[in-house]
Amino acid sequence: MLPISEIFYSLQGEGKYCGAPSIFVRVGGCNLRCKFNNKRCDSYFAVESYYKNSWKKTSMDKIKKEIRKYKKYHPSLVLTGGEPMLYYKNLYELIKWFDGDITIETNATVDVDFEKYPDFKNVIFAMSVKLSNSKVPYHKRIKKDVIKKYVKYAKKSFFKFVVDKKTDNKEIKKITKNINLPIYCMPLGENEKELKKNAKYVFSFCMKNGYNYSDRIHIRIFDDKRGV
Ligand code: SF4
Repeated sequence: MLPISEIFYSLQGEGKYCGAPSIFVRVGGCNLRCKFNNKRCDSYFAVESYYKNSWKKTSMDKIKKEIRKYKKYHPSLVLTGGEPMLYYKNLYELIKWFDGDITIETNATVDVDFEKYPDFKNVIFAMSVKLSNSKVPYHKRIKKDVIKKYVKYAKKSFFKFVVDKKTDNKEIKKITKNINLPIYCMPLGENEKELKKNAKYVFSFCMKNGYNYSDRIHIRIFDDKRGV
């Protein structure tokens, strides 16, 4: 059983695989409480306990059935949240079962034993490591050992940072030091207006530092609508 916030079919809206047909399985619950610009994160409904009643305890059979509905589109499976790795033991069956690319969108703070759960080696880790603009204390948001483990064992991984005008590149450099992975920076913004406000700055930030720019096309197109 997993606390599921939502399952939906869409196109990946951000990061390395932006635009790819994907089934999103969003779990409820997160070990961090980010506050960007003193506002809750854009997945607040899968984080805050206030919304807990909307997370449906769902059996693996039911999750698989839901995923099967979209088989004809040959989508990737994207496990997101909240923080999906909180439930990595329960998710393992899904990882073994799904026939296609799997991406886990994670804050990269939850340790996994890749020897005991070897199929996680076939997974792509989209590591959205939190910066100081999340207002989460450093010791909670940065687990260098966990990041290194994901990088060592995963099929592929990449970094995805939420950037705003206050972001100092030294932060990103410190986190990514000695880790040779693609870095994607995306503008802070939980709605289209905010995204637009930050996009130009982040575009220049990426050019200046040699990073990849990632837009958030679901926000760009659908504003703050859920399930897209
Ligand atoms: S880690 Fe992600 S899901 Fe959790 S509070 Fe931060 S932004 Fe939201």
